[in-house]
Amino acid sequence: MVNSRRLLENFLQLVQIDSITYEEKNVVQYLLDKLKGLSTTELNTEIDNVGGKVGGNTGNLIISLSGNASVPSIMFSAHLDTVAPGRGIRPQIKDGIITSAANTVLGADDKVGVAALLEMIISIVEDNIPHGPVEVIFSVAEEKGLLGAKNLDISEIKSKYAFIFDSASPVGYITVRAPFQDSIIATVRGKSTHAGVNPETGVNAIVAAAKAIAAMSLGRIDDETTANVGVINGGRASNIVPDKVDIKAEARSLDASKLKAQTDSILDNLRTHAEKMGATVIADAQREYDGFNLTADDWIVKIVQNAVANIGLDAVLEATGGGADTNVYNVRGLTAVGLGVGYLQPHSTRESISIAELERAAKLAIAIVETVQKGSDLQS
Ligand SMILES: [Zn+2]
Repeated sequence: MVNSRRLLENFLQLVQIDSITYEEKNVVQYLLDKLKGLSTTELNTEIDNVGGKVGGNTGNLIISLSGNASVPSIMFSAHLDTVAPGRGIRPQIKDGIITSAANTVLGADDKVGVAALLEMIISIVEDNIPHGPVEVIFSVAEEKGLLGAKNLDISEIKSKYAFIFDSASPVGYITVRAPFQDSIIATVRGKSTHAGVNPETGVNAIVAAAKAIAAMSLGRIDDETTANVGVINGGRASNIVPDKVDIKAEARSLDASKLKAQTDSILDNLRTHAEKMGATVIADAQREYDGFNLTADDWIVKIVQNAVANIGLDAVLEATGGGADTNVYNVRGLTAVGLGVGYLQPHSTRESISIAELERAAKLAIAIVETVQKGSDLQS
């Protein structure tokens, strides 16, 4: 059973431990200290070597509970790193809502997931909750390109199913679809010259880039597809015709072929319009991550729907527009769903979580373990 006081206390402690990306070590230590206090022989902890690979001060923390081997092994995950401004976080509670007291994020993304899964592990052990094999991955460097999950040695993971506690939706929401994403990096090359003396001999890279961008379809393309030009950089002085502009753009779609069409159209617009101006374009599109698409027929979705109902909530299937560790695990051969943990306005200083949602997130984690156990009781 969820111990509300312990859960809240752990959450408040966790957010006060700085864990900007690549600096998650102290949070790992906190979690290890908490687990050390548990009297059980079935708990194993390991820190992998991903810290060295990605340039962080710790690897992923991998925890396993052996459990009843006839029950399917399941994996849970939450990430340890938080975004900036995230140093010296001081939480405050008002009317059951936790926010940051100062000008920082709260770090509920994803310390809510971390606290909920810690509470799940403690509850399983202390309350002797019947369970199958459970693996918990506390990943590093999620906010800088999902690096902890991408570099995790997947051959070490026994589970085929993964529950990722990190979605900015209410508890009960299940992310079953996520977009494919491309990033586009381009340089428009013109020819510099003195803007007042002989402008006619130059090629203005800013104008060329502007015409190309103006011709692109951006923003919401359709209900599955979005595109954005997010960075444009160029020019040196007002009296120099600029010879170089750097552009960063992205496109996302729940549908891989729509994404390809959108990415191609961004590249085509760049080339066509810039070349019309006499500029040249060097552009490169890269797949950031692949999407996934599950339905209510998938075992993992049924498990979560049952677990959500068991804690008295309504399950809602949803698509997400953002990438998360969930994408990585689906691409890497697991079947993974993202789960709402109730934090609001992540990546902002207005970030918040209600104590009620924090509790529901922990209850859901335990309910998933119980539902998987019961499901295999029914089958046998
Ligand atoms: Zn997150």
